[in-house]
Amino acid sequence: MHELVIRNACPWGGGLAGSVDVAVDGGHITAVAPALPGCGRQEWEAGGRLLLPALVDPHHHLDKACLARELGGASDLADARARFASLRPGLTRESHIERGSRVVEWAIRHGVSALRTHADVDRVVGLRHVEAALELKSNYAGRIAIQVVAFQPAGVPVDDEESWRRLAEALRIGCDAAGGTTGNRGGEAPRVMERVVRLAAGAQCMVDLHLDETLDPATQNLAELARLARRYGLEGRVAASHCCSLSVATAAQRAEAIGLAAEARIHVIALPLTNLYLQGRDSGLRGIAPVAELLAGGVNVACGSDNVQDPFLPAGNADPLLAAQLLGIAAQLPGPESLLEAVTWRAGRVLGLAAGRDWCHPAAPASFSVADCGPREDPVACLAPRPLCVYEGRVVRTPEECAPGLLPVRERA
Ligand SMILES: [Zn+2]
Repeated sequence: MHELVIRNACPWGGGLAGSVDVAVDGGHITAVAPALPGCGRQEWEAGGRLLLPALVDPHHHLDKACLARELGGASDLADARARFASLRPGLTRESHIERGSRVVEWAIRHGVSALRTHADVDRVVGLRHVEAALELKSNYAGRIAIQVVAFQPAGVPVDDEESWRRLAEALRIGCDAAGGTTGNRGGEAPRVMERVVRLAAGAQCMVDLHLDETLDPATQNLAELARLARRYGLEGRVAASHCCSLSVATAAQRAEAIGLAAEARIHVIALPLTNLYLQGRDSGLRGIAPVAELLAGGVNVACGSDNVQDPFLPAGNADPLLAAQLLGIAAQLPGPESLLEAVTWRAGRVLGLAAGRDWCHPAAPASFSVADCGPREDPVACLAPRPLCVYEGRVVRTPEECAPGLLPVRERA
């Protein structure tokens, strides 16, 4: 007897035609076939619906999330940072855990199996945000995998040694990656990047930098980040989030940076929701990384939520399919293939997960969701709900579940 069997589901991609049954044991898929013999201790009938691979959201800020009601929506990135900075010193552990849990619960209900969050660390807040993020990671182990980036905020001076010590400490206590920002650093950006990459290499961590979140064409740091990744032996372990200004670089600059990024196996994370809200207020430009060009140049490109209902973006619901849909519109990409890839296996590779196009086969990790649409419908276009979600062989969302904290809607007798 299998631990779990999903009957009559149509796996997305992978070349499987028609509906199949999927058996799961010990956290892995153990059999995929039409009309699978035997039974499961737990069985679910998918009714011919689409089976989606694990969704991965590679970029969140759980410490900022759900503060839009208090702080409002910002007029640009600098204003968003100022609004958050005004509240930051007084945010309690309880507030971090409550708001973070809210967003993580939404993500689980959307079929997200892994997410990465940035947590501020500097001399002002110390390790408070990082410790809350690590607590969320531990609280949710078994339902979703959470990675934490120790994130040095934009306002930290490059020679603030106390803040650098705190960043190093955050890596020692369990953060998965080191991060910071370059967009507002001007000529200091190479020094900031070098220090972050050197720290990560020493701690055997990954790197995830907010790279060039600006539309100033003179700010171009992707090529230098690629050189640093190779110098410190971190090929394949460095992510460049945003890369807005790459979209306004000259063709020659773009070609050089994309070539070097591909060689160093830099991952680029496009963040259309926040970029469309904050960038280009004076120019009307979109501020989205040049995704089609990056993909054509052999760079792995993923897509993430970034901010959820905070001053940086007063909208959002932590659904990667929403981010993917918006990426398709803003970056003018055809769907659904490349868009779903950006929030599944391509995002998985950013996090260092063994992920690929071929996901529904025996021995593969059993993390997936049933989408409430047919196999010929586009789940990105229709934002199909996901009533049944499985994480490492365990059902983490069932169709009966309503919003947490509310009574279920049912017919009254
Ligand atoms: Zn961010």
